[in-house]
Amino acid sequence: MINIRHPRLQEIAERHYQALMRYLDKHNYLHDLEEKISVTVPDFDFKKVILASPEELEIIVDLLTKRKKVGFPKLGSLYTSFSKRKNSLGISAVKLIEDLDLSVCPYCNRNFIYNTDNKRPSEIDHFHAKSKYPLLAMSFYNLVPSCKVCNHFKNDAADKKLINPYDTRYDWNALLKFRLKVTAADFYFNAKSVEVQFENLAEDKETRDRVRNTISVFELEDQYKHHRDFVIELIQKKYLYSDDYLNALYKQYEGTIFRNREDILRLVTTNFVDEKDLKNRPLAKLTKDIVEQLDL
Ligand SMILES: [Zn+2]
Repeated sequence: MINIRHPRLQEIAERHYQALMRYLDKHNYLHDLEEKISVTVPDFDFKKVILASPEELEIIVDLLTKRKKVGFPKLGSLYTSFSKRKNSLGISAVKLIEDLDLSVCPYCNRNFIYNTDNKRPSEIDHFHAKSKYPLLAMSFYNLVPSCKVCNHFKNDAADKKLINPYDTRYDWNALLKFRLKVTAADFYFNAKSVEVQFENLAEDKETRDRVRNTISVFELEDQYKHHRDFVIELIQKKYLYSDDYLNALYKQYEGTIFRNREDILRLVTTNFVDEKDLKNRPLAKLTKDIVEQLDL
């Protein structure tokens, strides 16, 4: 549950669209596709479908739900090519994850989604299922890099409204906070005495439901129970590293091994705690929230 933000996101999306255009044009597929799109979703054309924002994707989904299901085999076969490392499109799932500079699954923030030189352990989740909405098989903001676990869990999402990580209407950092609750004094020796709670901070019901649905579809509460040991280590670090000690370390090593205060926190927590870096390492959002709560 982190957002996918990138300073050149629109540029990456535009490149995606241009590559598809070139391919369809070269193979004389574009005319047919445009015609079929104009019949299926009259207010949209190929470009609008491919570059539809998360909000517009929901509008298209509503339009498609009211109509008889129409297949788009050309878009389906484009996706098959896109999912292969080597293809003739000039874009690919592997390249997308590299371009987005995304190291960790945005849905769970628990698993790395690095690809190796030969294999692709990461997956691309169709935020709106490709089987149900084949028209959206290649829509840029419908292609969400994810880990295998989340992609698998999301099969059961049915029509629940979730939060698309690209959606600028929803800021996960403001909508959800992890909270640590210690339920017994023996927590150093018994991880079960610590609870990782999910605080839903959405102000309106619609957003609150989306946050809750997302947590529930990806089974995040159950999954994060397994990270209590990590949270206990953060409490221990809070005891070990007082403000004075951190300040002294910073003073001593500023400009040599620490560029700024965040570098020290990164070393102490073994994670990234700056909002823009949450995509770099598993459990960064958990770390950030608990570090704030503990005032580390
Ligand atoms: Zn995941």
